Amino acid sequence: MILNFEKKEVWFVVGSQKLYGKEVLEKVNQNAMKIAQALHDSNSISIVYKSVVTATEEITSTIKKANYDDNCIGLIVWMHTFSPGKMWINGLKLLQKPLLHLHTQFNQEIPWGEIDMNFMNLNQSAHGGREFGHACARVGVKRKVVVGYWEDQEVLSAVEAWSRVALAYMDSQTMRIARFGDNMREVSVTEGDKVSAQLQFGYRVDGYGLGDLVAYIDQVTLAEITDLIRIYNGVYTIDNDLKSENNFSLIGAARIELGLKAFLENGGFTAFTTTFENLTGLKQLPGIAVQQLMAAGYGFGAEGDWKTAALVRSMKVMSLGLPGGSSFMEDYTYHFADAGSKVLGAHMLEICPTISNGLRTIECHPLGIGGKEDPVRIVFDIAAGDALNASVVSSGDSFKLLVNSVTVELPEKPMPNLPVARGLWVPHPDLNTAARLWIEEGGSHHTCFSQNVTITMLQDFAMMMDIDCRVIGW
Ligand code: MN
Repeated sequence: MILNFEKKEVWFVVGSQKLYGKEVLEKVNQNAMKIAQALHDSNSISIVYKSVVTATEEITSTIKKANYDDNCIGLIVWMHTFSPGKMWINGLKLLQKPLLHLHTQFNQEIPWGEIDMNFMNLNQSAHGGREFGHACARVGVKRKVVVGYWEDQEVLSAVEAWSRVALAYMDSQTMRIARFGDNMREVSVTEGDKVSAQLQFGYRVDGYGLGDLVAYIDQVTLAEITDLIRIYNGVYTIDNDLKSENNFSLIGAARIELGLKAFLENGGFTAFTTTFENLTGLKQLPGIAVQQLMAAGYGFGAEGDWKTAALVRSMKVMSLGLPGGSSFMEDYTYHFADAGSKVLGAHMLEICPTISNGLRTIECHPLGIGGKEDPVRIVFDIAAGDALNASVVSSGDSFKLLVNSVTVELPEKPMPNLPVARGLWVPHPDLNTAARLWIEEGGSHHTCFSQNVTITMLQDFAMMMDIDCRVIGW
């Protein structure tokens, strides 16, 4: 439910002018419909053709409507013909939605034998798009420019990826983050200016005492717990130690998951943070609860890390329906080796099972930290393959996005004494360089790890959010 965006749509608007007469504009309209259909058919988000706009008032009114339509997540604008830039300035000044400028031409090739001035006047994207680009640059509109023939897969894929990011951008404008407790007491990177973050990203961070959550946990019924444990059984392998009918630990963990979920649903939250230094009223640190909720689409950050929780949520939105997953993550320990040094990534418990290699076991072990009962967690290895780590870094009222591409490898040997979700990766271009650059940039030890969000998507995201994006690797 928290990843339901069925009504969201991207508007496709075509620029022209009245100069050409009704007949040409009707042809522009017909061609625009065909392009919009092709974009729609290749996109996970609905692309809705709006109209050909030919005058300042019409352009301004279309942009005003886009701004105030909650289902409109962005605009794709294309110039079939020439559309003087001054007609766009007043509208572009008001634009509050993500913009993609599609620089394409309806006709793929020059019809050598037949080409005449009528053809030239109809197919003027080459200079019409430049005039529009100039207007955008003069107004200072942040926008993505995609160039190429509209039927090419590369163009369709670029529009699709941008649409996903626009969805995450819009989701961030209404995001509410529940912060249980404060942050881990003396940690610096999890702090930040929440007012500046709301100005930049739109999301709100609201603090709660653990008692507020415990009130929900106390209301969970045994019937609900039984149903949830049945779901655990269907999705995961449950360790034999937890299989007895009245296992206290598993029942306690399921109770926390149900209470936490009810709290988040009731408040309209799509992300949350916890901290093991403040667990008053909880019998164990939320492990499987956090893992399950992340898998359902909630953003999460441990130790009060609301910036990371927000980015995990945004990644969940932009990668909706794609194979692979995204998770809260931490660079935990190193394996220095001549043949490629690696990072062992994990957290105490809270890694999302969507990034697993398929074998996932529910287990309960002592934690050695937090001073509570042994917490239940899902244990797995992260699937091998290409991935990335990203982090939003704040310094006062400014933010930047750091990204490092990595290649995940399976562990060289079993690690029987480390019953947590974990993964080993080689950062690009290599560990020494990547870690040095990350540290020099002031990057967090917490990251968002993703197998299905690309560097380009994160660059588009940073552009929409109006923050810098630094990429380490490739
Ligand atoms: Mn941590």
